This record gives sequence, C-alpha cells and structure tokens, in this order.
Amino acid sequence: MSDKPEKFIDENGLRLDGRRVDEIRPMTVEMGVLSRADGSCYLEWGNNKVLAAVYGPRELHPRRLQRPSEALVRYRYNMAAFSVEDRIRPGPSRRSTEISKVSGEAFEPVVMKQFYPGAVIDVFAEVLQADAGTRTAAINAATLALVDAGIPMKGLVASCAVGKVDGQLVLDLNKPEDNYGDADLPIAMTEDGEITLLQMDGNLTADEIAKGIEMARKGCEQIFAIQKEALLSKFGTTDEEELLKEAELQAELATSEDEAEDVEVVSEVVSEVVSEVVSEVVSEVALEGEDDELEDEVDEDLELQDEGEAFTDDEVENASDEAEDLFGEDVSEFDINEGTESEGDSSSEPEDAESNEDEGEKNE
Ligand code: UDP
Repeated sequence: MSDKPEKFIDENGLRLDGRRVDEIRPMTVEMGVLSRADGSCYLEWGNNKVLAAVYGPRELHPRRLQRPSEALVRYRYNMAAFSVEDRIRPGPSRRSTEISKVSGEAFEPVVMKQFYPGAVIDVFAEVLQADAGTRTAAINAATLALVDAGIPMKGLVASCAVGKVDGQLVLDLNKPEDNYGDADLPIAMTEDGEITLLQMDGNLTADEIAKGIEMARKGCEQIFAIQKEALLSKFGTTDEEELLKEAELQAELATSEDEAEDVEVVSEVVSEVVSEVVSEVVSEVALEGEDDELEDEVDEDLELQDEGEAFTDDEVENASDEAEDLFGEDVSEFDINEGTESEGDSSSEPEDAESNEDEGEKNE
C-alpha cells in the first residue's frame, strides 16, 4: 500500500500520473477474446485489467427464478485473488455483492430483456489487476461484451468516476487519489445521458456533485468514442447501422415469436369458448331429450286414446249408464273415446267428465 502523497496536483495542474484534472487514463479494448463465451471483452484502463464475458440468453435454472415477461440479467463482479497487492480472499464479499448489484442495474434501461422471457443473460466481470475504478472499468468492458454477444441494446453504457483531491474535482481517480482523496463518485450513464449508476464515498457539496456529474459526462463521452471505435474495428465501417440492423432483426424475430404466442393464446381462448358453448348446447339437448321423453309418453297416451284404449270397458259402461240417467236415453252407441280426439288433450278428459257430472248433479 502506498502512503498518502503530500500533494495530488502540482503547480502546473498536473496529477501524480501526469494527467490534467479532466483527463481519463488511457483505455484499450479488445472484443471477442473468449471463444467459449457468447460475448467477451478485455479492457485495460491505466493499470486496471478487466475481462468481461457474457453467456446467454439461455434458459434460466432453477425455473422458479425465471421472469415470464423478460430475461433476467445477472451481473457478477469479481476481483481475482492476485489483482491487488494484498491477496483478496476468493469468493463473494459484501463489496463485490454490492458492486455486482448496482452494476447490473446500470444496464437496466438499455438491455432489451423483453425479447427473452424466461431466459438469463449472465455477465461476468473479472478484475485481473486493480488500480482504482475497477467497477467503472468492468461496466465499460461488460457493455462491449454484451454487444459482442448480440444482446439487443438500445445503446451503450459508459462509466467513469469523479473524485476530489487537494480541494479540486478530478476525473477518473487513480489509486492514490481513490485511497487518500476526499471523495469518490462513480457514475454510469447511457448515450442519452441517463445516469444509471451513482455512488458516493466521502464528502462533496451539492454544487460539487453537480459539477462532478458534468465532468463524468465528458469522461463518458470519451469512453463512448473508444467503445464505438472498438465496434467499428470488429463489425466494419458501418458498425452502428449493422448493430441497429442486428438489433432490429432480433426484435423482428422476437416479435414474430410473440405473435405466434398471441395466436396460440387466441386459439386457446377460442377453443375454450367453443367447448363451453358445445357443453351448453349438449346440456340443452339433454334437457330437450327429457322433454321429448315426456312428450313421447303423452303421444303414446294420445295414440292409445285414438285407438279407443284410453278407457277400460268398465269405465265406458259406467259412463254410458250415467249418460242414460242424465239424458234419459240409451247412449250405449255413443263412443265416449270419440270426444278425446276433438279435445286433443287427454288430461282434460277426466276433468270434463267430472265437470259434466257436476253439471248433471246441478241439473238434477
Ligand atoms: N482494493 C484493494 N483491496 C480490496 C478492494 C479494493 O486493494 O479489497 C483497491 C483496488 O485497487 C481498487 C481500489 O482499492 O481498485 C479502489 O477500490 P474501490 O472499493 O473504491 O473500488 P473501485 O474504485 O475499484 O471500483
């Protein structure tokens, strides 16, 4: 560990590494350095060396972690045990867990996760050599690794820190500035200038924060230029158009998949409605069937009556006797079953007979 320097900025306005306050360290990037990863980028920024690898989109296991309407972006920041002077204990720490979380969120507005529901996009950022500003270096490398993996993105993300030493704001802190300075303000932003990461360590006034953000914005502009140059050398002269075309193609593919899903959903709904209607019709028909059975029984009765079999011989004889009493003449020739034909309602017959009886009694 280096000791705290007496002065960070000399009388010429130069910092310990010879930079001006608003200058970033030299940055070089190389994409596609890992053949097994879907996308990768190796980045050197000053003495920082970072390797980013992207795997996916691929199916997320366990399935309960899957998001039904979008992909999950998992970001893992890790410092290699040999990346700093003192060996770093391998495995996740509070620091690396926090950096992983906020760095993953820095890509939230640009990665078009909606195209890959249920999938995961894994971003690994391995710090091989650390010299302050590793989280910002990792984000810059991860952006290019994502592009290299063909993940549709609305734009790039760049990241840069601002700090305060000797009472002055400085861009892209080096190790002594980071360790012994008054403040550290890492920032990430999209090409549109939307800030997607902002952390602060130390003390800054509101005015300093506002000025610091503007300095970081200028730093990010330089980083965007470096990223775009890398894309140019990897994808050719019209990289932005190519990338846009690629993203549009991916979007179209995803949209047609969505449409296919919509059709499936519609056909499911239609078949549900159809089966409901069919079951209603079937139950109605079944009820009608019951009605039909009743009607059949009635029809049978009517037929029996038509055939003169609705009343027994005794019933007919009694009725004849009663009629004779009533009308004083022999009606044995009169066929009582004949009336049923004209009435057409078998159930009314006994009642009519009864009412006639009553009437007869009244007449008497
Ligand atoms: N560092 C270290 N050991 C650690 C963490 C950090 O030596 O466990 C060094 C490393 O060089 C790192 C710097 O301190 O780049 C600043 O660390 P910080 O937590 O501010 O994160 P960074 O600026 O790298 O994003």
